[in-house]
Amino acid sequence: MNYEQHFRDALSQLRGEGNYRIFAELERRAGQFPAAGRHGPDGVEDITVWCSNDYLGMGQNPDVIAEMQSAAATHGAGAGGTRNISGTNKLHVELERELAALHDKEAALIFTSGYVANLATLSTLGARLPGCLIYSDALNHNSMIEGIKQSRALKRIWKHNDPEDLDRLLSQDDPAAPKVVAMESVYSMDGDIAPLDEILAVCEKHNALSFLDEVHAVGMYGDTGGGISERDGVSDRIDIIQGTMAKAFGVIGGYIAGSAAMVDFVRSFGNAFIFTTALPPGVAAAARKSIEIVRRSPEMRDQHQDRANRLKTRLAEVGLPVMPSECHIVPVLVGDPVKCRAVTDMLMADYGIYVQPINYPTVPKGTERLRLTPSPFHDDAAIERLIDCLLQIWDRLELRLAA
Ligand SMILES: *Cc1c(COP(=O)(O)O)cnc(C)c1O
Repeated sequence: MNYEQHFRDALSQLRGEGNYRIFAELERRAGQFPAAGRHGPDGVEDITVWCSNDYLGMGQNPDVIAEMQSAAATHGAGAGGTRNISGTNKLHVELERELAALHDKEAALIFTSGYVANLATLSTLGARLPGCLIYSDALNHNSMIEGIKQSRALKRIWKHNDPEDLDRLLSQDDPAAPKVVAMESVYSMDGDIAPLDEILAVCEKHNALSFLDEVHAVGMYGDTGGGISERDGVSDRIDIIQGTMAKAFGVIGGYIAGSAAMVDFVRSFGNAFIFTTALPPGVAAAARKSIEIVRRSPEMRDQHQDRANRLKTRLAEVGLPVMPSECHIVPVLVGDPVKCRAVTDMLMADYGIYVQPINYPTVPKGTERLRLTPSPFHDDAAIERLIDCLLQIWDRLELRLAA
């Protein structure tokens, strides 16, 4: 086989479909978010970022940065091993305690990313609960899908956010078989939220373990940032809460929280936890500091919601096709992959505004969109400027405005 030819052909096909990914080469500047630099053909240009998952701007919080620097200075750059072989630092243990407290659970376990947390936990549960069945929401994130696949457990896909369909599927299987129901709280492309109370009632009826990915909700919902499960008052009914320290908490790393026995089980049998180096101490310290700050800052959450609501309102007022969203994620429909890419190219090239186009297969064909993520640092002036630029582009590309 001509390997090089194969690689090139596969990439050309991707380009032909409009799905080839081009990364914007950014220079984040601590203290200036959402302003950043972008390395382009003509050197570095100043841009405004409108698509970051650093939802609360915690990635540039001075106390978090100071904590990271001081922990690195004290403990060094790396952890020095896997958790089992010399890699566990006191800072890891403190971070796990903070995460357990955040979700009011007995224990928590950290992973190198949220992706690995989903992969490791679902693959371990599915493989090690004898005869386990996993019920997966139709729009679950790739990290859960891969974890389920790796577990080799029998998988059933239930209709997105539909407790009745879940109930129907659960009713068809052996009542004695172990079952895991996997879902997200906030779905990050449409901005819709799972009806947790109803879904959990179905899980309880069938004695199924509930697994909830709160990646797009932790830090941002609930009185102390415990996510939608805290907001809805159902944390104690969820067996496994999974989250990330990379989005609202602005650092890196993933985790699960739950009962002491469940956490110990994944710690003891989860290959993607066991056979990899622990997070650097500076990362653990920074994440813990960020969580501590965010937990006691409800005003940050209010401001975040205020910015998202302001943006949604203004988009709707000028007739830009903002899609319904129940959360801080603001999708704007373009409905065509080529035009979607054209809108974001123009935003960047002509106006210094950075939004990544969201095309198939991330979203269904015909629903290509912009996914805007306002933060407490996107002020009214930034919102008005974005709206103004979008209106000019809508006109240039002859896209349709709502009446
Ligand atoms: C981003 C994301 C993850 C992965 O989290 P990382 O910490 O970035 O690896 C998991 N689940 C969902 C729904 C996500 O959007």
